[in-house]
Amino acid sequence: MTKKTELLSEFLITRGFVWPSFEIYRSKVEAGGFYDYGPLGVELKHNIIEKWRRIFIYPYQDFIYEIETPIIMPEIVFQASGHIEHFTDFIVECTKCGRKFRADHLVEEQLEKKGIKVRTEGLDEKALEKLIQEHGIKCPACGGELGPVGRFNLLFRTIIGPYSTNVGYIRPETAQGMFVSFPRVFELAGRKLPLGIAQIGKVGRNEISPRQGLIRLREFSQMEIELFFDPENPKCPYLRDVEKVKVRIAPEDKVAEAVQQGKEPEVLELTPIEIVERRLVPNEWMAFFMGLAVIYMNELGVPVDKQFFLAKLPEERAHYAACAFDQMVWSERFGWIEVSGLAYRTDYDLSRHAKYSGRELYAERKLETPKEVEEIRLYPNPQKVREVYGQQAGQVMKLIADIAKDSEKVKQLLDRGSIRIGDYEITKEMVFVKVEKRKITSEKFIPHVVEPSFGIDRIVYVTLEYAFTLVGEGKILLRLPPDIAPIKVAVLPIVKKSPYTDIGRELYRDLARRGLRVVYDDDGSIGTRYSRYDELGVPVAVTIDERTPQDETVTLRDRDTKIQIRAPMREVYSIVRQVIEEKRSLVDIGRERGYEIIVRGS
Ligand code: AMP
Repeated sequence: MTKKTELLSEFLITRGFVWPSFEIYRSKVEAGGFYDYGPLGVELKHNIIEKWRRIFIYPYQDFIYEIETPIIMPEIVFQASGHIEHFTDFIVECTKCGRKFRADHLVEEQLEKKGIKVRTEGLDEKALEKLIQEHGIKCPACGGELGPVGRFNLLFRTIIGPYSTNVGYIRPETAQGMFVSFPRVFELAGRKLPLGIAQIGKVGRNEISPRQGLIRLREFSQMEIELFFDPENPKCPYLRDVEKVKVRIAPEDKVAEAVQQGKEPEVLELTPIEIVERRLVPNEWMAFFMGLAVIYMNELGVPVDKQFFLAKLPEERAHYAACAFDQMVWSERFGWIEVSGLAYRTDYDLSRHAKYSGRELYAERKLETPKEVEEIRLYPNPQKVREVYGQQAGQVMKLIADIAKDSEKVKQLLDRGSIRIGDYEITKEMVFVKVEKRKITSEKFIPHVVEPSFGIDRIVYVTLEYAFTLVGEGKILLRLPPDIAPIKVAVLPIVKKSPYTDIGRELYRDLARRGLRVVYDDDGSIGTRYSRYDELGVPVAVTIDERTPQDETVTLRDRDTKIQIRAPMREVYSIVRQVIEEKRSLVDIGRERGYEIIVRGS
């Protein structure tokens, strides 16, 4: 940690942004990876989320819909999604003291201490064990021998209701709620594609050894969009919205090359349109979301050259992804960290949920020219059914009628010659097969999905790190973008005396009633109070001074330049709104409105 990041960690706790949860029980229980958000943190997080909606949802609200689904979901959802089988990390246990570690992280950390840099992403148990043996890696706590590397499932398990067999899990991503609710939202949207479903909410991952504060939590929040589209029409009609954005990208071939040569991948700087033209992504939606993601992080204060998209190699990708990129952002404390993941999930999730739920989850596309298709129809052969099943023939005929509706089962019966349903073996001889030709004007298909997935807590941290500035004499300035700042205005009477305090309180109440987050403070010298609110990132400080009782003007001070303008008190609200919404500086607004500009020391 540098001096600055050390100060920042302390600052976040003491000023009430975030702090580790369950602090009073820390000595009694191991429950790391949980953080509380304090008053300023909650407001900051809220504003960061609102900005995401403004960039990702509001401009596209005619086809992207936000929903909210439960945090706890039944087991079958995660059997279908593949999380029960695949959502694991590698774990290794010390044979002496019994401590458990995330194997890949342990190997990386221990080798880094020896000056060896290895990339463990994509390695399996055996490869990790080999590294442990080759480099003689021991338990970092007691020096004991490490056991074999195993897999640990990160899902938090629980019971739904009073029956212990009814297992549920906390969702590890908000995504599954959106896949499960796809048919409803699709219906509401008039069965049209493209369709985006967005969700913002909490998720849980039982991380093996969370450290790194807000970066690796066991409970955290995500903002995700599942964008459903027709794979035969993967065009994104909004690519022009991001045409000027510079996206820094390390594409798959450059990453593969870099891994082979043991160096950092080359990063190209391209526009989303160029990314599509060079076929660095499998569809336009991925390039579109890259563009929006760069704009988003940039508006939170992260320069474009401090972010890039890193392609995931096939062995590093999640089980559902056919192509994936991590949006990496440079952090002074943690190095490059992933703030969002962008994945092409194909039709994986909908197909799996269709299979597990028995519900067809599809869209339809109109065919330009009608197509002739052959359909295999099955009818029961009553005589044969009766010969085999006698009295139960009626029941079996019903089963055959059901099989006839299910193309998979028809195929199975015809290919294998028989199919078993419950106690009944139904053979080819018991059915008549007819091939019928039919003209169709539309066809069914399962939509494909592109998913941008943002981790809010990491973004909160990164935003704070970029805003946190030391400005000499140990002073802190939190240069948060005004629309993100938790408190927008500080109302400061020059001295703690009437009529200044009365006017100040009245202004405070008026601004608060109109929906601005505002503080009133009449305690201490004006300079100390300016510094106090600079530290908390308050963009505008309004001072009720000697002139206010006479001419109803106040000064408004800019947090970053310290320049002040003198304006009528009744205009404070509209000026602050302009600062927040139009991203204009006070001086700019003052000049435009012909107000007095005051430049002084601090
Ligand atoms: P993933 O589904 O793993 O791609 O995660 C999506 C996003 O969630 C990541 O880009 C991170 O920003 C965030 N994230 C993932 N795991 C954690 C964690 N343990 N703690 C905090 N944020 C996380």
